[in-house]
Amino acid sequence: MTTITPRLLLLAEEGWTWRDLNADNWIAIGSAAFALAGVIAAVFAVVYSRSSAKSSKASADAAQKSADEAARLSQIEIDREHNRYAPDHPGILHAEEEVDHRSPAGHYVAFASITLPRTYRARAETWNGTSFTPIAIPLLLDGGKPHRFFIDQVVPGVTPPGEVRFHLWPPLAGVDDTIPWSCPCGGPTGEDIAGRAHWELRIPIEYMPEVEEF
Ligand SMILES: [Zn+2]
Repeated sequence: MTTITPRLLLLAEEGWTWRDLNADNWIAIGSAAFALAGVIAAVFAVVYSRSSAKSSKASADAAQKSADEAARLSQIEIDREHNRYAPDHPGILHAEEEVDHRSPAGHYVAFASITLPRTYRARAETWNGTSFTPIAIPLLLDGGKPHRFFIDQVVPGVTPPGEVRFHLWPPLAGVDDTIPWSCPCGGPTGEDIAGRAHWELRIPIEYMPEVEEF
């Protein structure tokens, strides 16, 4: 017991039971303590890495959130542009009735006209509640000009079409002979005008009262 440290002697005096501990024992305990410290450090590292993983996940989430927000904002911008290029709904189309000189009974024929704010590719049809009838209009409806079109013959006892539907697209670049413009929304482009419209206007047709009395 020649290498007992003063501290151990003190402990021994206080009746400490580890009286046989010597410097070698301290080294052993020290190693154990280092080992323990290593475990603690490792645990801390794991905890830290978890929290750092958490924080990197949080920053990834934040980045995703701001990307989503940016996408949402640009979607709002795109929707706004799409609506800006949509023609204003005229509310109603007043049928212009004329005597049908080809009809011996002097029946009427109904026309209507529409003016669009810019040039669109177009297709139109009337709707009488049960069926559609295509309307003869040019493929390109020039902007800023009234376009008069034939609706139908107005025959006594036959309900005339109550609605006209316009299917509209931006002009086709390189195809349509007009000032090009386009909508950024990625909607239908109008190569096939039998297909889905980029904008659709459903407009009620109003007839003169005397015609409705048939
Ligand atoms: Zn659009």
